[in-house]
Amino acid sequence: MKLYHHYAQLGAEFSAHTKIQPLIEQRIVEVNKDLATSLGIDLSDKDTQAKLNGEVPVADSLSMVYAGHQFGGFSPQLGDGRGVLLGEVKDSNGQLHDIHVKGAGQTPFSRRGDGRAVLRSSIREYLAGEAMHALGVPSSRSLALFDSQQAVYREQPEPGALLVRTARTHIRFGHFEYFFAHKKTEQLQQLIDYTLEHYFPDALKSEQPIISMLKDVVSRTAKMVAKWQSIGFQHGVMNTDNFSILGETIDYGPYGFMEDYDDRWICNHSDYEGRYRFDRQPGIGLWNLNCLMRCFSGHLSREQLIEILQGYEPVLQRHYDELMRAKLGLSSEVDIEPLVQQLFSILRKEKFDYTIFFRLLSSVTPETPEILLDEVVDRESMGGWLKGYWTCRLDSRDQHDVSAQMKQVNPKFVLRNYLAHEAIQAAEAGNYLPFRELLNVLKNPFDEHAASEALAMRAPDWGRDLEVSCSS
Ligand code: AMP
Ligand code: MG
Ligand code: MG
Repeated sequence: MKLYHHYAQLGAEFSAHTKIQPLIEQRIVEVNKDLATSLGIDLSDKDTQAKLNGEVPVADSLSMVYAGHQFGGFSPQLGDGRGVLLGEVKDSNGQLHDIHVKGAGQTPFSRRGDGRAVLRSSIREYLAGEAMHALGVPSSRSLALFDSQQAVYREQPEPGALLVRTARTHIRFGHFEYFFAHKKTEQLQQLIDYTLEHYFPDALKSEQPIISMLKDVVSRTAKMVAKWQSIGFQHGVMNTDNFSILGETIDYGPYGFMEDYDDRWICNHSDYEGRYRFDRQPGIGLWNLNCLMRCFSGHLSREQLIEILQGYEPVLQRHYDELMRAKLGLSSEVDIEPLVQQLFSILRKEKFDYTIFFRLLSSVTPETPEILLDEVVDRESMGGWLKGYWTCRLDSRDQHDVSAQMKQVNPKFVLRNYLAHEAIQAAEAGNYLPFRELLNVLKNPFDEHAASEALAMRAPDWGRDLEVSCSS
């Protein structure tokens, strides 16, 4: 594994030298061979293994310093409290990807934390990164998972684990907030130059590099959130320290995939006020960008910053409409807004499973409305909606093709909370088969997987209200 250390070269104001502190009887339990291959990493190589599990320290491995707005309040000093950036690798296109280890032990930024991660949350993050990637959402990826015999104390003792993840970068909105808040003007400039050079080469070549870069950040963030809304994903902790400058979804904690349709759903049981509620995600995305823009108030005028922010809503709306149009199998001439609003109101009343609805809609024909009607209490409302739907959908296109295309955007499998829960319980007892079976369908969520049909089912009663919180 050829590691680069560009970030480390920024110097001591940006990070602290940190090494992985291996866990007791640490054992590798999953590796992502496809991802490794695409990054030119040979996981069977002994030296690579030893670097990933912490046996052989990497000379320039580090933990990053950053700040962030957490649930609306500013924390001036955060940082990788349990994360170690081993370095960067280059893919075949010459793009950098961070190799980051989570749960690696205390760092200078751990505050009161133990620097560890439990197996439960590491499995959740492993699955989420791969599931999101397969759904077409730019995301951190999961490269390897280690379990251990070390007890980590949360509400109760739990097995500790290490997750090796990749992302294009771990530079967060909070990185800029840190240097801005501490009036470290020179370092802020260094960070901006660094980000432009490594991650926004096109902006760097433009006439106004900072403006071009920020417009791109706004657009990437808008598209990321549009994608979340269209697949029913809720992040759970949209703090600015969990927002990547490249618009990749990172830091999967108490996230959720919507089951019964409810736009007021709150997946994180630690989010008492519902700040990060499903329907509030688009607004919070903008709120977070606003925090980021303030860090550039020494570079750009208020008017310039406002103008950049004004790009957010139209991009989000346009992208969301495109995604919903594809989910519905409609052509670009149709105004989908009224159809979507009416549909959501029916799904909400029926507590219809969001994913199952769109998958069924992908196979329904004007001759087989029962496929959907048999799933609802109020057949009249659904029947009425379907009538309007068919007038919009039936056109000169081959409807079999439309149906096939819909199945390429409406997944059969999403990461249902109860499935993650079952996979975790088995893994904690030493059985990783359920985890692997789940991972396998999530990696190809649009395929049928006849042998794993059960993983497409709605949650049984016991699995409906499982709590997920910030504890991880
Ligand atoms: P999160 O809510 O997981 O995004 O974490 C917020 C901040 O708390 C980050 O700076 C983390 O590195 C830090 N943190 C979370 N859990 C721990 C832990 N167990 N030990 C040390 N730091 C932690
Ligand atoms: Mg975080
Ligand atoms: Mg975290």
